[in-house]
Amino acid sequence: MNLFKYFQMETFRKYFSMCLGLFFLISCEINDPKIRTVSGEIPASAMGKTLHHEHLLVDFIGADSTGYHRWNKAEVIEKVLPYLLEIKKSGYQTLVECTPAYLGRDPELLKILAEKSGIQIMTNTGYYSAVGGKYIPEHGFTEAADQLAERWIAESKNGIEGTGVYPGFIKIAVDRKPLEEINRKVVEAACITHKATGLVIMSHTGLAVPAFQQLEILKKYGVNPSAFIWTHAHNEQDFAKHTEAAKMGTWIAFDNFTPDQLERYVAFALLMKKEGLLNKVLFSHDAGWYDPGKAGGGKFRGFTDIEELLIPALKKGGLEQKDIEQLFVVNPATAITVQIRLTES
Ligand SMILES: [Zn+2]
Repeated sequence: MNLFKYFQMETFRKYFSMCLGLFFLISCEINDPKIRTVSGEIPASAMGKTLHHEHLLVDFIGADSTGYHRWNKAEVIEKVLPYLLEIKKSGYQTLVECTPAYLGRDPELLKILAEKSGIQIMTNTGYYSAVGGKYIPEHGFTEAADQLAERWIAESKNGIEGTGVYPGFIKIAVDRKPLEEINRKVVEAACITHKATGLVIMSHTGLAVPAFQQLEILKKYGVNPSAFIWTHAHNEQDFAKHTEAAKMGTWIAFDNFTPDQLERYVAFALLMKKEGLLNKVLFSHDAGWYDPGKAGGGKFRGFTDIEELLIPALKKGGLEQKDIEQLFVVNPATAITVQIRLTES
């Protein structure tokens, strides 16, 4: 082959691989769904290793008295930042902050903590209707589901209170018993919001009875169970209920891991793997947090038990590295992706 032809071929090769790379990037951009962090939108593939249910600040004083005046951001940052840096060291990239409005949600604080730590943080829209409505603002009782949804959709479209921070999911809560009217209303509002925004519904639930009651409401609204995270599902003792809900597409969150529950969490994961349902399981600590009602924010529970205890025990029990990736990378990204999920009609 003469030199001229060789260079021609090299140029072609380079040009071709450049085009291929460009095509790959563009198709990734189109096909890769989005996650909304407090610092902006990222591709779901950039979510990385994730703790899907934690808290950085929670204020229990009640909807009528809480507000940003209750804590000093600098003090909170000083206390909380080391715990974020600690999980960053073990490779975690994203922490989903599940504190709803009127319980201490502070989008600006979360944005600063995300910048300082390098951990991607997510926040939410929605109301917490457990505990007899203590954390529901007055308008939550008087307005109808569609009016509440209008407020949450507005946050999703315009950001939260002019901060430029957008919610990445819907957080609601119902009581750990059959649904009352206020519980039903927030679930209905969450369904309406999901259909308008594609934000997943994370619902503090606990037992199977209110979980399946909520899935009935989703069905009425034509929302697919894959848009619903059964939060605190570990409170339900009957694993058969978990597998039943997971087979429908529901996300099952065992999200309050503590060392004393090690055996049960491992048994649950192994059962779900055997049933082919590991792709519906979410684990987290539900830990943290700075409590403005306590001196110095009170005692903070860190976010390392899963890395130090649960993951090694899951591997010892027979899960492979790809299963661990499924639980802490693939599942959170799939669940929390912004995507409208409807039942097939
Ligand atoms: Zn929580």
